[in-house]
Amino acid sequence: MPFSHHSHSGEFCGHAVNTLEEVVLHAIKIGMTTFCMTEHIPRSRQDFYPEEESKHDEASLAKLFDSYYTEARRLQKAYADQIQLFVGFESEWIRDSSVDQIRALRAKYDVDLFVGSVHHVHGIPIDYDTPYYHKARDVAGGKDDQLFGDYFDLQYQMLQQLKPPVVGHFDLIRLKSDDPERSFKTWPGVWSKIERNLNFIAGYGGIVELNSSALRKGMSEPYPQVEICQTFLKMGGRFTFSDDSHGVDQIGANYKRVLDAIRKAQIESVVYLVPQGFACASEAVSGMVSHKLILSTIAALATSAVHGSPVAPISPILSIPAVPLSPGAAAKDGHVAPPTYAQAEMWMDEHKMNSMVTYCDSDYRSKRMKTRFEIWGYLDRLNLNFFEGLAAAATSCRHPEEIQWAVEPTNNEYAPFYVKWYQNPSSDDCTSQAITDFVGTWPGVKCT
Ligand SMILES: [Zn+2]
Ligand SMILES: [Zn+2]
Repeated sequence: MPFSHHSHSGEFCGHAVNTLEEVVLHAIKIGMTTFCMTEHIPRSRQDFYPEEESKHDEASLAKLFDSYYTEARRLQKAYADQIQLFVGFESEWIRDSSVDQIRALRAKYDVDLFVGSVHHVHGIPIDYDTPYYHKARDVAGGKDDQLFGDYFDLQYQMLQQLKPPVVGHFDLIRLKSDDPERSFKTWPGVWSKIERNLNFIAGYGGIVELNSSALRKGMSEPYPQVEICQTFLKMGGRFTFSDDSHGVDQIGANYKRVLDAIRKAQIESVVYLVPQGFACASEAVSGMVSHKLILSTIAALATSAVHGSPVAPISPILSIPAVPLSPGAAAKDGHVAPPTYAQAEMWMDEHKMNSMVTYCDSDYRSKRMKTRFEIWGYLDRLNLNFFEGLAAAATSCRHPEEIQWAVEPTNNEYAPFYVKWYQNPSSDDCTSQAITDFVGTWPGVKCT
């Protein structure tokens, strides 16, 4: 497995083994190039894992997470020349109030990504052991399909509230059920909830992890089952790899069997995290050792989702170290930095294009009570059609004065440009729609 986006260590998780550094060293040793550290989030007393109950209180669990974050950042730097490490967490959605806990955690820790998952239904752990699972099932009404329905409803809530960049073990609920291999399609009510959730994930650009832990737990297919992968694929959904390892023995485990599953599902490419977002790695799928970056990188998806943006940012960018682009909105907001001029030029030349949008973003501005939309990128300095078209789109709406754009003067063939407009959430979305449609017609650009 060349990369994994979900892991734990015994140093910071009561049901895992090994120190975090041992975990990282092992990932390097087996040739991984990208590895995400995603420790469980601290939870309130009622939601402690059984092994935490005697050893921790809420304060000590919060302190443990703090130590995890510090150590993970240290390791990220210390091994930067050997492996691309990312620091994140596994956000566990338990009930409505989870959103406040997770938002507070994200405000405190500027993580690189997080995995959105559900381990509890009706407040009871569903993957810990069979007695707990049965307890949750009893509350749901006593039948597996009833608990499954409740699980996917809770997951839907989690997805809507968090829009996690990576969705963890999508169908974990089957682990302790009477028949973990059963097709979900045999329960049409459950299946329609699965389709609803997948649609939502595809809609905001979330990534479903192919989580190999299902294999080490005795099931024949990773999470999610192949039939779910096929459905998500038809929706244009994207996938990545995760080992969900809880110690060195599990790092990269069962990779070959994960590859078997993705061939069966006919997934042709998977993505993995790079500093600017998720890159495409279709060669990894064919099982080759090396996997190089492919230019159709989707910029900054993770960063956007982490910052809670409702707009999935877009457009092909090169996966290279971040360099801020003037007029500087990217750097200013702490979002992902777009490619440098040289990188943009190379990309446009290669793709025979005269413009590229490197980023689209939107943020709710509470002071103005409006959503601010921004688009920026590069365009051919002599290609004035872009702004003519943009102006036409904007003036077709009622509030053209809300729109600002700028091109930075340059002696180069291409120039950085920047467009900004505001939208009142309660009024019509004509401006946003017109601009999005216009930008959508531009080659190589897709704003969703
Ligand atoms: Zn765990
Ligand atoms: Zn998990």
